Parts: sequence; structure tokens; C-alpha cells
Amino acid sequence: MDKKPSIFSQPLSGMEAWVSARNEPAYRAKQVLQWLYQKRVSRFQEMSDLSERLRGELDRSFRLEPLACVRKTGSRDTTQKFLFALGDGNFIESVLIPASPALYGSPSDRKTICVSTQVGCAYGCKFCASGLDGWTRNLDVGEIVEQILRVEALSGEKINNIVFMGMGEPLANYQNVLQAVEIIRAPWGVGIGARHITVSTSGLAPRIRELADQPIQIRLAISLHGATDEVRQKIMPVNRKYNLATLIDACAYYTEKKRQRITFEYILIENVNDGLDQAAELARIAQKLKAKINLIPYNTVHDFSWKRPSQTRQQYFFRALERNGVDATIRREKGHDIDAACGQLRLQTLRDKSFAGSSNLR
Ligand code: SF4
Repeated sequence: MDKKPSIFSQPLSGMEAWVSARNEPAYRAKQVLQWLYQKRVSRFQEMSDLSERLRGELDRSFRLEPLACVRKTGSRDTTQKFLFALGDGNFIESVLIPASPALYGSPSDRKTICVSTQVGCAYGCKFCASGLDGWTRNLDVGEIVEQILRVEALSGEKINNIVFMGMGEPLANYQNVLQAVEIIRAPWGVGIGARHITVSTSGLAPRIRELADQPIQIRLAISLHGATDEVRQKIMPVNRKYNLATLIDACAYYTEKKRQRITFEYILIENVNDGLDQAAELARIAQKLKAKINLIPYNTVHDFSWKRPSQTRQQYFFRALERNGVDATIRREKGHDIDAACGQLRLQTLRDKSFAGSSNLR
């Protein structure tokens, strides 16, 4: 793997320091960033208003290899999933989700990308394919930012909404995610405002508090999936470390500091967490925090035996929340036919012995 840092890891201040160390004026830093984020070049040689010497220096200092797309799936409803090979041979996934009435905000023109933050995951949530083979490594800042640029290039779509909800626990790669957010928000960078960026966590309570103290207004979503410790523990092993009381306290701190509503994600799994007793507890928690609830009917993962509840059971659960005055939605399905749940494409690929990079799309 190329050991040079990715050019997409560089904030404006980093680029300015880099050009100044080479006795170049500070405005050169903005020129470089314009080539990357506005003109979207893929080679330093294309930066035609920089001197040959500076382009050579850039090439010796930074990596500008685009992420290699080795598989792409698209469903009838236009959800598209991209499998990228990293420089060290690991795989990550990004998902492009078209406008959806229940996915963070207005239904109008949302083009959402679900971004990965780690290779694999240590948290082992029982519904998720990403954690099945454990954690391998954190993504660096450039690998996070570049997913957005590559998906835009490959799909021809302009992304305007980011969710850190792909492979990995974003708050376990805290510093790199925060630095990536800085580049994503910046006018000289990707240029997507903080209110269109959501970090979704399995519930790392201390990190939620740290995030609350950051001076940025990004949105927070919590994978709850159980409204009592007993039920949540069956689905989310992290609940043993940070139980519901601890998590809810951290969420209350976040809500208070940010003056912002958080979202609870709740995957409905038949006879596991879809009983009306859970709905009543969930309503109590949501009311306490004035949180929104996003219900997600379970998406079949081949290695697991759980089932999606019937439409009738889903509706009972939803109505129970509504009766308690909770702002809840059931996510309209996107991409169920291409296994849109995180980690599934990578897992399928790793286990598919016949796959040997034959469908390299770059
Ligand atoms: S849901 Fe998120 S935190 Fe849980 S195992 Fe999957 S990637 Fe990790």
C-alpha cells in the first residue's frame, strides 16, 4: 500500500502549511483544493496552473489514487451500492440512497450517501453483517471523504446528505470522522452543511458527550433496537458496556447542549423487540428526550435466523408509538433487493470464492 497520506486528508490549514514549507504563497493551497473538490481531477499533473516543480512535490508527498470500485449493484428503486477496494486490499462499502420520506429530512431532493468509517466492526450488533468478521482497521480521513467523491463520479448524482451509517462505528474512529466532517462541511471542500450530516452510533455514551461539546451542529442518530436492557442486550452487545440509563443520560446531554432533536433507529425484529411492551417503553424514552423514531423493518441477513415482522405487527407497533404522541416513521424500503443493509455486499464478496476482482469498474 502507498504509505503517503491521502491528499483528501488535508484541511485548508494543512495545505497552507505544506505550501508555505515550500516557499509558495498561501493562495496555492486553495488552488490545490479547487482542483480536487471543484474540478475533481484525479492526477496532480492535471493541476495546470501550478508549476511543474509543485506538481512533482505534491506527487511525492500525497496519494491521489481514486478508490477502486470493484462491484456496483443497483436496485429497481435506484438505491446503488458500491464496493471499494482500498490500497491494502481491504474492502469497504458505500450506499447511495435516493429521496426517501423517512430518511432524515424532507422527501424532496435528498441524495443520501451512507459512508463507511472502518474496515469491519468490533461492536458485533446481531443484525449487522459488518461485525461478523470483527474489526480490521480504522479508515483514514481521506478514505472517508473520498467515498463521497467517488460515488458522485460513478453515479453522476450530486450528493447533498451524508449519513455515517455504513460499515464501522463512527464514534470509535472519532478523530478521523471529525476531521472528515470538517472537510465535508468546508466551502473549500465538499461543501455540504453540518445539518445535512448525520452520525449514527451504536451508543458509545462517552463519545456522544464529547461530540456534544464540539462546536458543530451535525445530527445524531442512535441505533437503539431495544427499549429495555434485557431486550437491547440480545441485539446490541455494546449495551453491556453502556446500558440504557447511561446512553439515555448521554443523549439528554447532547440534546440539551445542541438544542437539537436526536433520532432513534429501531429495527423491528419479529418476536424479539416488536412487542407492545417494547413500544410502550420506547415511547417513554422518546418522550423524555423529545426524540424522533425511525422504525426499520428487519432486513434479512443470510447468516442470521431473525425475521421481519408482518405488516400487521409493524403497524401495531407504529400505532402504539403514535398513540403516545411520538414522532415516528417507518422507513420505506430502499434496496432490500440488493441487500442494502451495511456490510452485506462486502461479506458476500469475501465469501464468494469465484470473485477475483473480475468486475473491476474503477
Ligand atoms: S450496526 Fe454499526 S456498530 Fe453495529 S456491528 Fe454494524 S457497523 Fe458495527
